[in-house]
Amino acid sequence: SYDEMTKIRKNNVNPALTTYYKKPLALHQGYKQWLFDINGRRYLDMFAGVCTVSVGHAHPKITQAVTEQMDTLGHSTNIYYHTKLHEYAKKLAEKLPDKLECIYFVCSGSEANDLALLMARSYTNKFDVISLKNCYHGMTYQMMGMTSNNYYKYPVPGAAGFFKTTNPDVYNGIWGGKNCRDSPVQTDRPCSCGSECEAGLRYLQQFECELRHDIPKGGLAAFWAESIQGVGGTIQYPKNYIKGIYQRVKDQGGLYVADEVQTGFGRTGDYFWGFESHGIVPDIVTMAKGIGNGYPLAAVATTKEIATGLAKAGHFNTFGGNPVACTTGLSVLEIIEEEKLQENCKTVGTHLLLELEKLKSKFPVIGDVRGKGLMIGVELVEDPKTRVALSTEKVLKFWEKCLDMGLIVGKGGISGNVIRIKPPMCITKEDADFTVKVFEVALEDI
Ligand code: PMP
Repeated sequence: SYDEMTKIRKNNVNPALTTYYKKPLALHQGYKQWLFDINGRRYLDMFAGVCTVSVGHAHPKITQAVTEQMDTLGHSTNIYYHTKLHEYAKKLAEKLPDKLECIYFVCSGSEANDLALLMARSYTNKFDVISLKNCYHGMTYQMMGMTSNNYYKYPVPGAAGFFKTTNPDVYNGIWGGKNCRDSPVQTDRPCSCGSECEAGLRYLQQFECELRHDIPKGGLAAFWAESIQGVGGTIQYPKNYIKGIYQRVKDQGGLYVADEVQTGFGRTGDYFWGFESHGIVPDIVTMAKGIGNGYPLAAVATTKEIATGLAKAGHFNTFGGNPVACTTGLSVLEIIEEEKLQENCKTVGTHLLLELEKLKSKFPVIGDVRGKGLMIGVELVEDPKTRVALSTEKVLKFWEKCLDMGLIVGKGGISGNVIRIKPPMCITKEDADFTVKVFEVALEDI
């Protein structure tokens, strides 16, 4: 019962794992984009277990494939061959640019980034890593050094060698202008850099300045970025920023690492990988969440040359490439293609973005609507002129009201005032319209 779970939660579950909502949601079942609580109440899941359930809850094709695999071989480790790992490694590599042909399977996004860090440092023989302020790359002790310390409040002594550059945020940052991000909806921030928007250039100049003055010259091993910032509040970078960074990092002999944990697998609509929209080919790509539709599966893809560096150093992982996990991953790839889910992200996502933009013109509390495909952020503010974040109390009121009406959405951003929409990729236009309708009622409430 609910009360029993509350008691167990208090006594036996580490309290660091906080729950959402005043009365935590107790889930019992899921089907496609729907979740059902222990009382049988249905919710439209527009957050997908933090951007993870990519093809839908309890997808019958996955259930069948996984059941068959469990019956055949539930576990095998990397010291043996098994067919599913090899089949999946080949299929996944085919989805990536040719040079990223070498896959290492692990079990979570943090683990993938941690391993990629080891690859980057051991391959380059350099130590310094630059990431963006507000970024999220994981919660292993090393990844905390790389991840913005806005998300935790204790010291990370192993954080030597991690540097953060200014977040190129065109809504909250210093520079930005019309059309400077890749989205069906645009920012209306007055451009501060002349008749043509040059926000990307300005942030690049800032980066160069930081490289010259703030970042010790131990040698740059890698630059790390999500292709769109997820936990940071669906932050899209100005056009040409990532391309410029890529060039400057290469000039320094560093690697470019793309964290595709949230943006991969077609979610952003136009492309299968988020980095494609920046016109670059990374040296290392990390992926998790949507890759396994909720199954603990993650991967690092890189070139043979970089992978060989790790092989020389030696490395092992017991669960990475587990046959059931690989079966799930294979099914996810098939379902995305069979059900045209990437295309669905583009059409339904664009429709939802434009409808939310219309809502913005009615409610000044919506400061910004942004995103691509089904990776959407709605930033709530006290006043659209000052752009001060809406109070936590009001954000929570909005958010609880959505739940009351059967809608699950996420929240994020440094001030917790960005409503995050990252549903299973199979949602329909009707689901998008329902979401907008619920937002309208909840906004009227606050
Ligand atoms: N990278 C990104 C972009 C993420 O959003 C997350 C999780 N929020 C991670 C890495 C870490 O993934 P995990 O929680 O699976 O370790």
